[in-house]
Amino acid sequence: MLCLIGSPVGHSGSPAMYNYSFNRLGLDYAYLAFDIKEEETAEAIRALRLLNVRGFNITMPCKTATLACCDRLSKAAELIGAVNTVVNEDGKLIGHNTDGLGWVRNCREHGFTIEGKKMTIAGSGGAATAIEITAALQGLKEMSIFALKDSFFANAQNTVEKIRANVPGCTVNLYDLADKDTFYREIADSDIFTNATRVGMKPMDDQSLIEDPGAFRKDLTISDVVYNPRETKLIAEAAAAGCRTIPGIGMLLWQGAEAFHLYTGMEMPTEEVREKYFAE
Ligand code: NAD
Repeated sequence: MLCLIGSPVGHSGSPAMYNYSFNRLGLDYAYLAFDIKEEETAEAIRALRLLNVRGFNITMPCKTATLACCDRLSKAAELIGAVNTVVNEDGKLIGHNTDGLGWVRNCREHGFTIEGKKMTIAGSGGAATAIEITAALQGLKEMSIFALKDSFFANAQNTVEKIRANVPGCTVNLYDLADKDTFYREIADSDIFTNATRVGMKPMDDQSLIEDPGAFRKDLTISDVVYNPRETKLIAEAAAAGCRTIPGIGMLLWQGAEAFHLYTGMEMPTEEVREKYFAE
């Protein structure tokens, strides 16, 4: 058995995606979803350990509480401070975070490799932290992080400290997102801009962090984590200006595919899954 824990999970596409893939590959697994509140995380994981499940995915609000329940953590999960995939290896629960790997793979599938590149990225929440840490671990050369001075800002400071201490080969700087001159200057000097904030997601779907269309150079790649709507204002405007665009839905697909590989050692039939469940 495999499953998803978190709350709410009723509308999650994960059971359909994984069960379709197991059937397609003839694998004898079943994937369920359980509604688990944050304070129930440790108890739920004790039960899953007792049942000796192969593994489980974790969604909000249980991602941070899961850290302390694992026997070991991947480097990315440890630095991100959140776990979205747990694999049971002979009774030991190993915590991984595939969100950032899903973003890296999505970039590669769209023809953009991050090694040696400079990225400007906005955001300091869950998705942003996963991308920032993983991109640094995976060979990004330079990163300019822009964040609002809201309750998430301390996260961004923490992320910068962790990258400087653990990945000295990646130069990282943090700026106030309200400083628009610096924002556009850093984008002008970057290979890729990533929106890892909620801007662009309903009800902010009429907004984009890039308000100056002059920022859209043809050799600038634009990536968005928001997948609701599928085409955000940022992605639509960047595509119209001729930029390479990387919408957020592929990150969701590929973080699932990375977890599938950790569970089964096999590749998820991603092309079929994309057509059935993840149309861009
Ligand atoms: P979060 O609540 O952890 O973080 C939200 C971030 O948005 C913070 O950095 C906050 O400062 C910023 N923000 C909020 N309002 C803003 C505004 N008006 N201007 C500028 N910044 C603002 O959320 P999260 O879990 O990181 O999710 C962020 C987005 O990423 C959501 O749209 C979510 O659906 C999406 N997401 C996508 C994937 C994927 O696989 N594609 C995975 C996780 C999250």
